[in-house]
Amino acid sequence: MRAYLSARAEGAHARVALKRVFKMETSNDKLERRLYSHDLAPLPKEMDVIFKTMPDQVVRPKYTEEVTQVVIKAASQNKPIVPRGAGTWGLGGSVPVKGGISVDMTGMNKILEIDETNLIVTAQSGITWKALADALDAKGYFLPCYPSSAPSATLGGWIGTGGTGIGAYKYGTAGDIVRDMVVVLPNGAAVHTGDRYVPQNGGGPNLNWLFIGSEGILGIVAEVTFKILPKPEVLRPLSYSFDHLSKFIPALKKLTRTEVTPMHIMFSDKLHFDYLRAIGKHAPEVGCMVTCTLTGSMESVDREEKLLDDIMTSAGGKKEPKELAEHEWAERNYEFRVRELGVGAIPGEILVPIDRFGAVLEGTEKLIGQLKLKAPIIGTVADRNTVMLMPYYLTDEHKLVASTAAMGFAKRLGDLAFENGGRPVGLGIFFAGNLAKYRGKEGAALIRTIKDAIDPQGIMNPGKTIETGTRFGISIPAFLMNFGMHMMGSMKRILPRDKIGERELAKLKK
Ligand SMILES: Cc1cc2nc3c(=O)[nH]c(=O)nc-3n(C[C@H](O)[C@H](O)[C@H](O)COP(=O)(O)OP(=O)(O)OC[C@H]3O[C@@H](n4cnc5c(N)ncnc54)[C@H](O)[C@@H]3O)c2cc1C
Repeated sequence: MRAYLSARAEGAHARVALKRVFKMETSNDKLERRLYSHDLAPLPKEMDVIFKTMPDQVVRPKYTEEVTQVVIKAASQNKPIVPRGAGTWGLGGSVPVKGGISVDMTGMNKILEIDETNLIVTAQSGITWKALADALDAKGYFLPCYPSSAPSATLGGWIGTGGTGIGAYKYGTAGDIVRDMVVVLPNGAAVHTGDRYVPQNGGGPNLNWLFIGSEGILGIVAEVTFKILPKPEVLRPLSYSFDHLSKFIPALKKLTRTEVTPMHIMFSDKLHFDYLRAIGKHAPEVGCMVTCTLTGSMESVDREEKLLDDIMTSAGGKKEPKELAEHEWAERNYEFRVRELGVGAIPGEILVPIDRFGAVLEGTEKLIGQLKLKAPIIGTVADRNTVMLMPYYLTDEHKLVASTAAMGFAKRLGDLAFENGGRPVGLGIFFAGNLAKYRGKEGAALIRTIKDAIDPQGIMNPGKTIETGTRFGISIPAFLMNFGMHMMGSMKRILPRDKIGERELAKLKK
């Protein structure tokens, strides 16, 4: 504890000294600003009529104090502030809807302290999950969870989206390992949301969860403190193939009732591997493959492996060689390699209860057929109750028709999840209309009240999550947004089939 306080004090002195030397990186350059006008899923330029996606300025702070300065200045000028990590999310969370200041957090990429005695790490929020995991690994520690986009996604970005990821089945998600954060509020105050040593704050509301999944609309996460683990003695991926993804479902239902607790369970269908082979990658020829990664002592992992083998093989699964399982694990961060074809891979992402996995899988396959798509289905098991399905398809997302049709696909996939007691993942710009579906009318109203209380000027990432804002300052009503999205799905049904990737797949068959 003392070590932390003195490290912070030294850090503070160093910051003051450094600030005298450096000025915060700021850019008004048009080309650079253009880079900040999109995220993983670029919007076609025609959308500029509705949204001002180009920020007026980009700033790259290096210290929490600089974030505070930016926010205070923006508030005094009533300018929108858009927190941005690596921009790897696809729902527009880090894309401005009415210009303003894009706050690129990737310059805040330092680890502030690894407290080896108390198993706690504190880092600036712009560091990538992989950089943090690698640094911990080098010292014999283990970051229990991270998104599969870990090589580029930032701590603040995944905390902002509140997603599920690698390690979730055993260790939970980012929110489960966060002890404390420093968040810069829209009035410039930097507040601690939890307590680095006391899990539930010791008393009073723990504010961590208020900001986790808030998509950057309540404040900018500047620093994060996580609990960490000693590196497990063994980390062992095991892969099993099935004729079809549906065949894995009985095995999964059995698995969730046993003591076997892999840190991660991921699956991919045949088409996913076909695409990989079509672009020249090493990939198995299987109906579907499930990879479960066990962690623990040698003895416990050996025992779990035996039980897992039994569960999977008695459901018709075939155990694949160790080398293949290790290859799958090494590829866990690169699901969208097929983008090497030079096209966009549009993912839809839904979370559904395990008892509806079969029905949703069937529904997803039907939807893919109706919308004339060729869409591989990949996913993970989020925990003992929930499965995450992520079908994706290839398209040229810069084209207006293709891009709007993609939203239609995501909308219908989301509806399928709702019908089955689940939900699509994330709100961002286009799915803000779902907020009341998630939380109910009163719940959505409460979230708006919280937003208004914290951000009375409405400058922090406006036009997202609780509303779909426009460049004109007015919002698109939720019913209109939902109707529009539904119609985009209808349009996709009428449009000719997207042929991207077919040539490569055809070559494969010869
Ligand atoms: C290959 C690939 C794999 C992926 N795998 C996963 C996965 O396993 N699990 C998953 O959940 N998602 C996944 N994603 C989606 C995405 O990568 C994650 O949501 C990621 O964590 C976003 O991080 P980012 O730094 O890119 O954030 P951005 O895309 O820049 O921002 C995301 C949101 O967070 C807000 N934000 C960013 N930084 C801050 C901050 N410091 N303070 C406050 N708000 C902030 C932004 O305003 C925005 O609303 C994947 C994407 C790709 C391309």
